[in-house]
Parts: sequence; C-alpha cells; structure tokens
Amino acid sequence: MNTLATPDTEQTVEPAPRELTAADRCDACGARAYVEVAIATDKHDDQFKRIVVPLFFCAHHYNEHEPRLAMSTAVRGINDQRDKLYEEEASRTKGYE
Ligand SMILES: [Zn+2]
Repeated sequence: MNTLATPDTEQTVEPAPRELTAADRCDACGARAYVEVAIATDKHDDQFKRIVVPLFFCAHHYNEHEPRLAMSTAVRGINDQRDKLYEEEASRTKGYE
C-alpha cells in the first residue's frame, strides 16, 4: 500500500500519482527511482513564481533523505512505491528456489 500525503487545498487539480517505471532514475545516483517527491521551489525569471518540481529517489537515497524531507515545508506530495521494489525482490528470490 502506498503512503500518500493527503492533498491540501493548494493542489486540487493535482493528477493521481503515476506508476514509476524503469525510465525514472534517482537524481542522486541514477539507479531506478522508487519514490517521487514533489518539491515547491521559488523560480526567479521575469517574475517571481512558485513552481512544484519532482525529485526522484532510489530506495537507498530516499531512506537517507527521508528524515529531512519529512520535516521540510517545501514537500507537496510523496509518491512512495518502495513496496514494488520489495515485491520484485521477493518474487526474484522465489524464482531461484
Ligand atoms: Zn540513489
């Protein structure tokens, strides 16, 4: 089961979290990403704007950053699909028996 932050009033048009695929890579190390975190950031170009950008983490790097992300007010949503990794690992192990 995925743990998703309850949407707040700020993001009523936010689409449902999509499945992460092998094409999604960890921003820290390039391994397959299993967690997508939406981060609000301030963009300065012609005008001051607040945008939400996705950050991707493999299970290893998400575990490493989780305590800091949990305290961050910039986090708008977490799409945690580490369950899928553990399921895949479990079925792979079973295949060798
Ligand atoms: Zn990583």
